[in-house]
Amino acid sequence: MNPDEYAVVGHPISHSKSPRIHAEFAQQTRQNLSYGAIDIEPGCFVTDVDSFRARGGRGLNVTVPYKEEAYRYVDVLNPLAQRAGAVNTLEFDSDGQSIGHNTDGIGLVNDLTQNHGAHIEGQRVLLLGAGGAAKGVVEPLLNQQPQVLVIANRTEQKAAQLAAQFSEFGATRATGLDVDEPFDLIINATSASLTNQGLDLSSQLLAERGWAYDMMYGKGDTPFSAWASQAGAAKVIDGLGMLVEQAAEAFYIWRGVRPDTGPVLAKLRKI
Ligand code: NDP
Repeated sequence: MNPDEYAVVGHPISHSKSPRIHAEFAQQTRQNLSYGAIDIEPGCFVTDVDSFRARGGRGLNVTVPYKEEAYRYVDVLNPLAQRAGAVNTLEFDSDGQSIGHNTDGIGLVNDLTQNHGAHIEGQRVLLLGAGGAAKGVVEPLLNQQPQVLVIANRTEQKAAQLAAQFSEFGATRATGLDVDEPFDLIINATSASLTNQGLDLSSQLLAERGWAYDMMYGKGDTPFSAWASQAGAAKVIDGLGMLVEQAAEAFYIWRGVRPDTGPVLAKLRKI
């Protein structure tokens, strides 16, 4: 039987680790599928996704810069994706419907709680950034019942909108990056690390034994992780685990099987 086809779409896409991750998941769970990477030129999202579906494609992961376009594309939105306003997983069912999901937040929370043993309940959490990644993680973070989730963004207005949008899910408020109070967990969801830029954060921001999490992943320190180490963080975590966990959630949506993420993450760390 021909394998079911999946892929990650974005622009650029050649750097993506998703094909490797899903190939590992498929091998581990003995699923008959292929998983590729499709670079979609600006303006071609709808035509390229339509032609992938016409070839019989079963699902896509969506990365920068198409998560909002994917949100607009789908026939049906999962409630989490609907509230986040962004879709990172597309499922094409046998009735010809497209369903949009957002697994970024579940990926982050699973990495923190399952891989690193974090207890978010009752903690003071700071989320830096209010872009696509931040939008996807606010609700799953609030579901963990932190004492408070403060959202800090360079453009404070965007943080205020995000905090207001999710206020019914838990205690959340907004501020600028000049925030100056202690937090038990600080999550960097800005894209500043991508361009190797620091955030000029107060050294008072990390509570004693506080943790820092940078959604960015790659070799070596980012300006944020270097800042966190210097500020005395008890633990500094990169976003590779989040990437693997969001992929596992997408795999589960598509195949109904949960892969074991630990060995896959360990392999990726060795590359
Ligand atoms: P967006 O472009 O949607 O948002 C960027 C955010 O970063 C905005 O809040 C923006 O603030 C802020 N920002 C950008 N540059 C600076 C700067 N120099 N100083 C302060 N703030 C800045 O990006 P995404 O939300 O899609 O991605 C954010 C990060 O998360 C990226 O590093 C990405 O790689 C990572 N990511 C990781 C995932 C994983 O699985 N590990 C999954 C998804 C994302 P403003 O609003 O003021 O412009």
